[in-house]
Amino acid sequence: MESNRSRLAVYPGSFDPLTNGHVDIIERGARLFDRIVIAILVNLDKQPLFSPEERKDILREVFRSKPNVEIETFNGLLVDYAEDRKADVIVRGLRAISDFEYEMQMALMNRRLNREIETVFMMPDERYTYLSSRLAKEVFALGGSISGLVPELVESRLRSKNIQHN
Ligand code: ADP
Repeated sequence: MESNRSRLAVYPGSFDPLTNGHVDIIERGARLFDRIVIAILVNLDKQPLFSPEERKDILREVFRSKPNVEIETFNGLLVDYAEDRKADVIVRGLRAISDFEYEMQMALMNRRLNREIETVFMMPDERYTYLSSRLAKEVFALGGSISGLVPELVESRLRSKNIQHN
């Protein structure tokens, strides 16, 4: 990697929906790298709650005031996408030991596929170490409060989806 070139990181994920754990990692990444692209995986097999366009819209709104945070969607192999974007780094968040095995497999497979791109792991603030998009959706659907765990915009978008049981 040339030292006089700006560093571009890609942060891939489903973001269905964005949580404050993701926001925490994105803010850390935006401080560490010159630019960070949040890459929303469009997975045709999964039935998402929010469409890729809705997720993109939420991310754009939340990071509107951060010029070095970009939002895109992608499908196919992450390393191919990262190479197309001329990214140096893949950013992933590590919450607990339970994330470790899967993340290690992915990082080593991605390295095998493309040795130029380095995976960097970051830990979120401890408040978010147990938080996942799936858990936030479940708690919300059962009528529990997820205030402080997701951006307010996500809470209001969940409300307008009308999935709350109470
Ligand atoms: P994926 O479907 O790729 O797991 P997610 O949107 O669930 O997509 O997560 C994207 C990335 O963000 C992953 O690296 C995941 O470990 C990380 N992540 C998810 N939730 C949190 C959290 N609460 N704190 C830190 N990192 C997180």
